[in-house]
Amino acid sequence: MNTLRFFALKESLSRKPVFIEESERRSALYGKHVFGKNAMRQVLSVDAFEAVQDAVNTGSKIDRLMADSIAAGMKQWAISLGATHYTHWFQPLTGATAEKHDAFFESLPDGSAIEKFEGAKLVQQEPDASSFPHGGIRNTFEARGYTAWDPTSAAFILDTTLCIPTVFVSYTGEALDNKTPLLRALNAIDTSATEVAKYFNKGVTKVTATLGWEQEYFLIDSALAASRPDIMQTGRALLGHAPAKGQQLDDHYFGSIPSRALNFMKDLEQQCMLLGIPVKTRHNEVAPNQFELAPIFEEANLAVDHNSLIMDLMARVAERHKLKVLFHEKPFEGINGSGKHNNWSLATDTGVNLLSPGSTPMKNLQFLTFFINTIKAVQDYEELLRASVASASNDHRLGANEAPPAIMSVFIGKQLTKVLDELEKVSDGKLSPQEKTDLKLNVVGKIPEILLDNTDRNRTSPFAFTGNKFEFRAVGSTANCAKPMVVLNTIVAKQLKDFKIEVDSLIDKKGMKKDDAIFNILREYIKASKKIRFEGDGYSPEWESEAKKRKLSNNRTTPEALDIQLSKITTSLFEEMEVMNAVELKARHEIELEEYVKRVQIESRVLGDMARNHIIPTAIRYQNLLIENVKGLKEIFEADYKIIAIEQIKIIEQISTYIKQINEGITAMIEIRKKANQLGMKERASMYKDSVIPFFKEIRYASDKLELLVEDKLWPLAKNRELLNLR
Ligand code: ADP
Ligand code: MG
Repeated sequence: MNTLRFFALKESLSRKPVFIEESERRSALYGKHVFGKNAMRQVLSVDAFEAVQDAVNTGSKIDRLMADSIAAGMKQWAISLGATHYTHWFQPLTGATAEKHDAFFESLPDGSAIEKFEGAKLVQQEPDASSFPHGGIRNTFEARGYTAWDPTSAAFILDTTLCIPTVFVSYTGEALDNKTPLLRALNAIDTSATEVAKYFNKGVTKVTATLGWEQEYFLIDSALAASRPDIMQTGRALLGHAPAKGQQLDDHYFGSIPSRALNFMKDLEQQCMLLGIPVKTRHNEVAPNQFELAPIFEEANLAVDHNSLIMDLMARVAERHKLKVLFHEKPFEGINGSGKHNNWSLATDTGVNLLSPGSTPMKNLQFLTFFINTIKAVQDYEELLRASVASASNDHRLGANEAPPAIMSVFIGKQLTKVLDELEKVSDGKLSPQEKTDLKLNVVGKIPEILLDNTDRNRTSPFAFTGNKFEFRAVGSTANCAKPMVVLNTIVAKQLKDFKIEVDSLIDKKGMKKDDAIFNILREYIKASKKIRFEGDGYSPEWESEAKKRKLSNNRTTPEALDIQLSKITTSLFEEMEVMNAVELKARHEIELEEYVKRVQIESRVLGDMARNHIIPTAIRYQNLLIENVKGLKEIFEADYKIIAIEQIKIIEQISTYIKQINEGITAMIEIRKKANQLGMKERASMYKDSVIPFFKEIRYASDKLELLVEDKLWPLAKNRELLNLR
């Protein structure tokens, strides 16, 4: 057969693993292509070096002269490593990364040429950014977009380009990217958490949020992928029967890594080393062809940049290995999808993880303070947290047939539940000496011990405490981590700010001791945040009805989930914490809603096209073969043919039934799309969700049935079992 499918199969079967030499030790490669402290020390003057460090640590401004000096050093370093171009590297609201390369090269009037890079070019640029999403901000203000250097994330060299991480803002200062609000949120959590950490150690001057993401993904052969318009255009298989052997036998999870995938990983990891991305673990995931990659955690801004960078890098490296990476949350029906767990904690500049229990009652009181405040923040803003991970593709996980559910809840384990239950009994007002001793010795004092056997890990919880960090598991594998990180850090910042006010007021107005005041407030928080805590199976119908009783939100789809972004509570939260203003919030809401519509619209179009020009013609061809056969049988057996050809006739009829289902479905789906496109964005999104998406299942059902009926040789699309068979 001369279809693309068979060509691709042949290609994929003849692939050899691309050998990756690992001659240098990883530690020797680490950070070689990053303009970090080491590189700076070598090429910058002491003054310039310190100016950058101050900017990183305290946010101080860098003046023009100094910027020139830094740029000169940066250029020298970059050129020595083969760089020919530079770019401001930013993360617009498309969720991906953006770059526009300019050469260092400049010709001079005398005919000679030099490499040039000035401070002005380092500090600020104005990309022609008119086609990045802005949600109306740039129309309203008729302003242009600017990128500005973010010294807290080091510059790096990708291929032969010096990449300078930047924020992307409008002329009037409104954020047009994911990084700007993230930096503001990290600033807010620093301020609030430092104040609270000072209750326990006056020497704390800075608190940083830490993030360790775990990225799940699929790898498929690039030729096979190319034979699938749906995978190429939407990142997932819109059609295709589940393979007979999927993940039932659990033989892929943690199994030996297929050699092509392993070579891809080695290659990728070497690139990561050069770029200072501390990747640490790699393994097979549950589904066939599914893998996971995780680094050592880092400061959240850097970790977010590294995740965006690595997603870009993975796509590039995969090409070399004739592979395609799928980041989609649900690329294949019938097997597990992908997520991106965000492990989050807070660390002080004195080297303490604030979510790690200590060895003394005082350290544990500190732990409990941050632990309980985080739970309270999630409780108060659960719906906003849900919105931060909403996307058309993540709707296939949350609230669909995949853990975690769309209901946000917090899992803390049996032992810590016991501790909170005990603390809830703390008496109102001043604590008696007896009570204090009891608390210190028997409740707070024992936390590190009991945590040692905190083994009951709940895999269905969207927000789980895992020993010394919280793990936000509802984040989608395609997501930019900045979005959930903005919300999480902002809500905890707000919560810690309120906590400080309440504790101080008990100390100042009621003359309470600090410990007593903290215990009193924590007790109230434990009571107030009970409804968000859930230890059971987040996936059960019982939990769904229980959550409803508790009035927790259960927004299964993006259009529903995003509503909260426009609420008064959300606006006042972000304005109070100086993370986003009403204009920015509204813009983001609009962009996300529109992106939802566009994604579904593209899928709907691709599905319609494929079903009409791949599936139906193939089905008709096979049907014709059967008709020929029946005709022949009739010629030979005359009247008896009806008995002899009975099965063939049945199949001919079935094929017609499925063709009808597909074709009618597509016609109706297109009609609805036309109607929806006349509506405003909110109604349009609802209509796509309620009236367009249901056709996907119907059309797919009929097409997948045809896949099982039609002669294999005629089928034009690589089958899922072929796509999922990486060696
Ligand atoms: P798993 O959850 O898969 O069992 P681990 O508990 O070892 O694995 O860690 C998962 C992720 O959590 C890793 O990416 C790790 O870097 C990250 N992590 C560990 N400690 C912290 C922390 N204090 N802050 C943020 N992330 C952390
Ligand atoms: Mg994990």
